[in-house]
Amino acid sequence: MVDYESVLIKHKFKFKKSLGQNFIYDDELLDEIAAAGGADNATVVEIGAGAGTLSRAIAKRAKKLNSFEIDETLFPVLEETLEGLDNVQLFSNNVLELGIETVDTLIGEPYIVIANLPYYITTPLIFFFLRSELCGSITCLVQKEVAERICSYGGGDFGALSASVQAVAEPKIVRIIKSWDFNPQPEVDSALIRLDRKSGTAFSDALDKFFKDCFAQKRKTLVNNLTAAGIAKPDITAALEKLGFAPTARAEELGADGLMKLGKELGRV
Ligand code: SAM
Repeated sequence: MVDYESVLIKHKFKFKKSLGQNFIYDDELLDEIAAAGGADNATVVEIGAGAGTLSRAIAKRAKKLNSFEIDETLFPVLEETLEGLDNVQLFSNNVLELGIETVDTLIGEPYIVIANLPYYITTPLIFFFLRSELCGSITCLVQKEVAERICSYGGGDFGALSASVQAVAEPKIVRIIKSWDFNPQPEVDSALIRLDRKSGTAFSDALDKFFKDCFAQKRKTLVNNLTAAGIAKPDITAALEKLGFAPTARAEELGADGLMKLGKELGRV
């Protein structure tokens, strides 16, 4: 067992709110996250090693762990907390700046993501890995409210975020994690979610634009939203009719799969 808090104090580490630094120390919870993500014998990518708490739990189960951390003041801490684990490789890059093709090339084989994500870039990171050719699943901690939107299949929470994720992955909430499990304690509870990629699909700029256009004004019909985005009205009504949807349908009535079909019919995704 590693006493993470003592190592952080020894290295005079100062938490940076701007980097979303909320660490978890509970070994049982950390192991549960690693197991829920499917770490066993897998090649894993972690964003935000922090003090190496989740990294250790993952590395114990994984074939290989590639962990990214941008706060270099954590490197002396990580040197200590990850000592003796020879299947861990640390990177100091910001993956978002590297680009997904470079990350895929760097990892070089199918992988999964397991992470306690920094909150300020949760959704960009999720969509970043949903574009990957090699990433099979993403298991991560996100704010509870974001998790509920991602995993909503209808009703008020269902929107562009839910549909965009569900077009290329099957999301589910594994469990809720209370704010007191983090240090420092954030204001809101979190949820552990797992997104399993649908084979043969990947997120793209075209998909992003089409889904945002569909939900541009949630109360308006698809015909209204998509004509405002420059698609000819007769094309939209014809496509909706062909797919068996009413010409007055709103985006949420089609669900992610229906919207994907509509996007394909209109040549937009
Ligand atoms: N994995 C640790 C844990 O569970 O205790 C730390 C999680 S903490 C919520 C998020 C970590 O991500 C922080 O250590 C932060 O410095 C790091 N981070 C923030 N932005 C990052 C980025 N763009 N790339 C890599 N790491 C980042």
